[in-house]
Amino acid sequence: MPPLDSGFRRNDGSCTQHPQVTHRASYRFELRFLTVRYNGHVTLALDDATWSDAMASGQNRGLVQTVLGLIPAAELGPTTTHEHLQIDFSFMYRPAQDSSSQILADAPITLENLGWIRRNYYSNRANITLTDVDATTSEVSLYREAGGGAIVDATSVGIGRDPDALVQFSRGSGVHIVMGAGFYVDAVHPDDMDGRNVEDLALEITTDIVEGVDGSGVKAGIIGEVGCTWPLTSNERKSLTAAAIAQTETGAAVLIHPGRHPDAPSQILELLADSGADLSRVIIGHLDLTVFEVDTLHRIASSGCYLEWDLFGNEGSYYPLADIDMPNDAQRLDYIKQITDAGYSYRIVIGHDIATKHRLVRYGGHGYGHILQNIVPIMRRKGFSEDTIQAITVDNPARVLALA
Ligand SMILES: [Zn+2]
Repeated sequence: MPPLDSGFRRNDGSCTQHPQVTHRASYRFELRFLTVRYNGHVTLALDDATWSDAMASGQNRGLVQTVLGLIPAAELGPTTTHEHLQIDFSFMYRPAQDSSSQILADAPITLENLGWIRRNYYSNRANITLTDVDATTSEVSLYREAGGGAIVDATSVGIGRDPDALVQFSRGSGVHIVMGAGFYVDAVHPDDMDGRNVEDLALEITTDIVEGVDGSGVKAGIIGEVGCTWPLTSNERKSLTAAAIAQTETGAAVLIHPGRHPDAPSQILELLADSGADLSRVIIGHLDLTVFEVDTLHRIASSGCYLEWDLFGNEGSYYPLADIDMPNDAQRLDYIKQITDAGYSYRIVIGHDIATKHRLVRYGGHGYGHILQNIVPIMRRKGFSEDTIQAITVDNPARVLALA
């Protein structure tokens, strides 16, 4: 992580208090530079005058911050709201349960072992990193050819976020890319996370959006995916509170990776609300791994948040990390249909959450274009109206990604 004293001045010697819920009123912008005040304990000045001027005067409102700059939300086009283009997911490695696992853990991916890897996708080390910039550029170009306009790269701090690579993907493919900010799950938090307070974390997130990431000048456009486990750890609570504060500061949406428990989304939404977040600008991701009761989905939707089914393309029921039956694409659409029929079509977004090689086209997978190529026609067959399809694939992503 970059040192927190680069690019701004700070004076937090007196800041020892844990944050209370009053920061919405106590943070504010000032023209010429961004000043953040937190309960009178912290004063920070970010020196990107242009961005903060624009924010203070509302000029950024309605624009989406891509890795190549701000664009009108209407220019995004079809958008998948949860992908990983460049990722180091090596902490997810798990030995497989069968006798082949020792040999196959470090094997290169071949046609002979691809069937095994498709089932045991977290048990082959080569499968859980995406770092080949040329290969990914061509995958993103295939998405473009399928009609794709924009991708949210939800890779947050801890799993190999790479702003320069995202710029290359966008330039090489013509696809708009929105980069994530904030912290992934506790297992990959920065080493100094225990000693950092909410203000520090909120400042880092805000800096990634206002100034750019790690001195690259490339700016994040969404806070997330914010990683949560079940039960939440104390550092994840800090991370969530910091995300809420940074949302208040920047107007960016928050994308949540909930822990694997059906109560996790509601608990997180409550924590975010208590921290001053605007729940109408929060996306709850991974519902296809987390909530299987329609009543619970209704309860989550009634909070005003966006609901995200983001594992399209996973057609198998076996999920190696939890004792659940993974829904297939048809079942995902059946859940979504029930929620849209209940009046929430304007609150649903979708994606593939590709984070492994076996799902890329060059490894025999469905690629980033799967939703546009294969799912939209099934939505029509299942009775989704053209307006609803347009809402889910274009209008809802544009609305939530536009800075508020
Ligand atoms: Zn996730």
